[in-house]
Amino acid sequence: MLDVRGVVKAFGSNVVLRGVDLSVEEHRVVALIGGSGSGKSTMLRCASLLETVDDGQVLLDGEDVTDPRVDADRVRRRMGVVFQAYNLFPHLSVLENVTLAPTVVHGRSAAEAREEAHALLARIGLAEKATEYPDRLSGGQQQRVAIARALAVRPRLLLLDEITSALDPELVGEVLRVVREVAAGGMTIVMATHEMGFAKQVADTVCFLDGGVVLEHGPPAQVLGDPVQPRTRQFLARVI
Ligand code: ADP
Ligand code: MG
Repeated sequence: MLDVRGVVKAFGSNVVLRGVDLSVEEHRVVALIGGSGSGKSTMLRCASLLETVDDGQVLLDGEDVTDPRVDADRVRRRMGVVFQAYNLFPHLSVLENVTLAPTVVHGRSAAEAREEAHALLARIGLAEKATEYPDRLSGGQQQRVAIARALAVRPRLLLLDEITSALDPELVGEVLRVVREVAAGGMTIVMATHEMGFAKQVADTVCFLDGGVVLEHGPPAQVLGDPVQPRTRQFLARVI
């Protein structure tokens, strides 16, 4: 479904991605791991067209979406993205946060969007919070709403960028539970994460990003349990 081919991205003289290849099949979960500053976020931002690539291609369902003639907004509408800092709209209720994009961007009727939003909120265990405002929720609850909001546009692909990093440890589990449930429902997910245990449980493939390339990728048991590359071993020794 998603094919990242030889993507190069520099910020000035800082070449962050030097030819990243990543292939994601439908219904699969790919975990991106790597040190701080290794380019995980840049990679997700390139894949979701929030950054332009300097070289290489991103193919979504076989279409080269990095082609300058492609309408980036149309492509972005097919992806749900959740970032580290829960970016809920503070002036909108939980329900309004979830129904905004489906109605305003996707042109669904308010009634349909509301019905779907209530179903999503029930799924993430926050049915009773629909009329609350974000500042009345815990960080974990806000991040669960952010996931519901991303799902509300019925994306082809969900991109998650270290969505538990800003949370107190006791709130991480409830967010990961929601991700696990969404993955079990068949959603295609690419997630940058430093939760190695979670990557091991949920990901089909783990990609280790180092030196601007995917240095090693494979099933979690292999990459996390018996890595081939010395750099992967060094990284895991530091984080586990
Ligand atoms: P990670 O998510 O793996 O921690 P990032 O993709 O955030 O890594 O960052 C990789 C490198 O790219 C870092 O050196 C960072 O400073 C740089 N970088 C990221 N975004 C920008 C930007 N918008 N402008 C300049 N440099 C950036
Ligand atoms: Mg990052």
